Amino acid sequence: MKLSDYDLKQMDDAWVEGLPADRLRLALRQTLNELKEARDRLNMTPENSSRPPGSMAPWDRSSATPELSGDEVEPAADQCKKADSGGKDDPPDGGAGPAATSPKRGSGKPPGKPPGAQGFGRTQQLPVDDTCPHVPSQCAACAMVLPQTADNMQAWTAWDQVDLVPLADGQTGLKLCCTRHILYQSQCSCGHVTRAMACRAPIDERWLHTGVCEWRLSGPFLAAMIVVLAMRMRLSRARIREFFAEFIGLSLSSGLIDNTIREAGRACEAVEEELVLDIQQAAMLHIDETSWKEKAELLWLWTVVSAGTVYFTIGHRSSELLVNLLEDKFSGVIMSDGYRVYREWTNRLRCWAHLIRKATGLAESVDARVAKIGHQIEAHFDVLMAAIYAARLAPPGDALTVAHDETIANLKYICEQYKDDSHKKLRELARELLLDWHVIMRQIREPHLALTNNIAEQSLRHWVISRLISHGTRSVEGTRAFALLASVIETCRLRCASPWRYLATVIDAARKDDAPPSLPEIQAFASGV
Ligand SMILES: [Zn+2]
Repeated sequence: MKLSDYDLKQMDDAWVEGLPADRLRLALRQTLNELKEARDRLNMTPENSSRPPGSMAPWDRSSATPELSGDEVEPAADQCKKADSGGKDDPPDGGAGPAATSPKRGSGKPPGKPPGAQGFGRTQQLPVDDTCPHVPSQCAACAMVLPQTADNMQAWTAWDQVDLVPLADGQTGLKLCCTRHILYQSQCSCGHVTRAMACRAPIDERWLHTGVCEWRLSGPFLAAMIVVLAMRMRLSRARIREFFAEFIGLSLSSGLIDNTIREAGRACEAVEEELVLDIQQAAMLHIDETSWKEKAELLWLWTVVSAGTVYFTIGHRSSELLVNLLEDKFSGVIMSDGYRVYREWTNRLRCWAHLIRKATGLAESVDARVAKIGHQIEAHFDVLMAAIYAARLAPPGDALTVAHDETIANLKYICEQYKDDSHKKLRELARELLLDWHVIMRQIREPHLALTNNIAEQSLRHWVISRLISHGTRSVEGTRAFALLASVIETCRLRCASPWRYLATVIDAARKDDAPPSLPEIQAFASGV
């Protein structure tokens, strides 16, 4: 049990003098543990905390100080301090919404509430359907078990939380429930008064602007719904507010929506290890990347797809990111386009759809000579592709490399012939094929292997539209939250599970500082490869 400011204020000389020796020993043990933890926290730096360097995450960039930006709210510590001292009218997540007061574009001011400006909580009063008591079980000072009798307990603060009630099978509709969470205090025979506190995740220097705390106006299912509306339905903050006001009669600030999304992102960090493990153990990975804007910085959104997991990460366009993600634990095959970073892996495949698209581009050239060569390359690929599909249905007597050696040799001859051609696109395709010849021809040797990287490209498509709507993310923490939420949502979908229900359980566990729930099981039919 942690000692709060309220506990420490009571623990004065007079209290110590009044304690019998055995209780004094208990109290000393308790305070020593607390002191050691406090000292460790004090000595914490980005270099010595959170994770050992070996497990540094691939998104970890060199700058350790999170960037302050308009979509940030108060630090987590401040947010939850209110829960320690404030009443129910002073909830920690009802701060003014950045979008609610967004200055006009081009005004030069960053969007959002200026630091230190007053926040406005939700003013809407809802009837309370249920109460949930939080009672201290042991004395914070001397660790004695506290009697939980009515005359010994006093309510000292409370907060109301609105949540969606998940429907049973066959039910329809949308049901909200407002629960009043009451925190009680209780006096020990040693004289110390212990208060039940709202649970919260410990301070993390990588999430200084994103607190995870039980004291929230939106319950886990409502929070997960907000995330799904923003991420999966691609609704803007304003549209989400409109949706809740119009259909549900609930007024939410943009600040609350923004905080909820980042809080959910931070909560998902707890399941990242499981996602990464599944990626590292996969037999085959489809990888692709697309550009992403974080404020003014150009970054890349990477997707890594295995049979049961979709993992997104946003960072630079370098092999370092993949090396850090896969460490030396991945021994499967990588399917990708021709981007050079993938060449570091010998066990890989090239996407034929990319190459055929380029040949089609040549075939459509207005230069008749180039168009003719483009058609020839296309035709060779068509023959080989048909042979691969046929071989999957009925294994041929001869290996495809033998049966089609002439087609393969002709294609290579065309490439050799035009690798120094004056037509830029033709020259480039010829060189690209020759440079990666052995890898490109691998599916002919092993026809059961995938021919295209469509799975990875499809997994990016939804988020490319998101990028067009949102213009990317605005802060390091916002970017992290986005990638984590996208990973969890797409993985749930690939595993035929509800992202909403799963996210709610992840948020609930994180707010209680509990271990996260395991990812939904991979369905036998969910294999996307
Ligand atoms: Zn006590």
